[in-house]
Amino acid sequence: MSETATNDILPEFSGFFDSARQHRLAFPCCRGCGAFHWYPMPRCPHCRGNDVEWRQVSGRGTLFSFTRVMHAFDKSRAGALPYVVGLVEFSDAPGVRLVTNIVDSPLDALRIGQSVEPVFRLEDGRPIVEFRTA
Ligand SMILES: [Zn+2]
Repeated sequence: MSETATNDILPEFSGFFDSARQHRLAFPCCRGCGAFHWYPMPRCPHCRGNDVEWRQVSGRGTLFSFTRVMHAFDKSRAGALPYVVGLVEFSDAPGVRLVTNIVDSPLDALRIGQSVEPVFRLEDGRPIVEFRTA
């Protein structure tokens, strides 16, 4: 895979990244049954309906789990070691758990259930969403 392909945004994620460009967080939500889902899919995995929209959420979440990465699996991240990858869930988007980097936080003090908030930035023109402790 070329570096350019790595930076391409897959079409099914366009709603997520379009919102992130505006410093907002949005997840796919079914207009039929009202349930959120993640990974983005054109059909609702709960009711199989096809009326799915991107619904904005507050962005405030809680840390469901996390791990501290001590070894670079990708050489582009070697300079960032150690870093934390977290799994964040959202009370206003039940069922969504987002894998994300945890940044700008005291890593030794991270705890399951801790409140987190999104941090938005651009990297080579691509919106990046990470989270920090709130
Ligand atoms: Zn549904």
